[in-house]
Amino acid sequence: MDCIFCKIINGEIPSYKIYEDDKIISFLDINPVSVGHTLIIPKEHTLDFLSISDDTLNHILSKAKELAPLIVDKLDAQGFSIVQNNGICQEVKHYHLHIIPKYEDKKNMKIEEVYEKITRGE
Ligand code: AMP
Ligand code: ZN
Repeated sequence: MDCIFCKIINGEIPSYKIYEDDKIISFLDINPVSVGHTLIIPKEHTLDFLSISDDTLNHILSKAKELAPLIVDKLDAQGFSIVQNNGICQEVKHYHLHIIPKYEDKKNMKIEEVYEKITRGE
């Protein structure tokens, strides 16, 4: 199957991975809406909100509850949005939850630096 997110899961395409377990992975969005824009996806190829299992969705949401405040803290953001697109507004046809940090003042940072800041243990 020609799915870019499945290729990320399989390691065929590189990503700035910030979390992984047996069911899900999380990585930085390559074309971020804001600094620290992060995606969480299921490892099993699943289309969208309507087709994902409740178990996997709950797992993704509970991980988002951990990752969002961590990202906000590490990047000094003032808030965040959780977004998940379906149908014509969904570009990549593999379920993904967006965590989009929000800043009072516009912030610019290279993705390598964002990755370093989020994954640095402190
Ligand atoms: P959506 O419109 O909800 O389907 O969003 C798809 C998101 O996937 C966009 O924010 C893209 O920037 C992001 N994206 C596409 N390809 C990659 C990739 N190779 N690595 C990381 N993020 C990606
Ligand atoms: Zn896929």
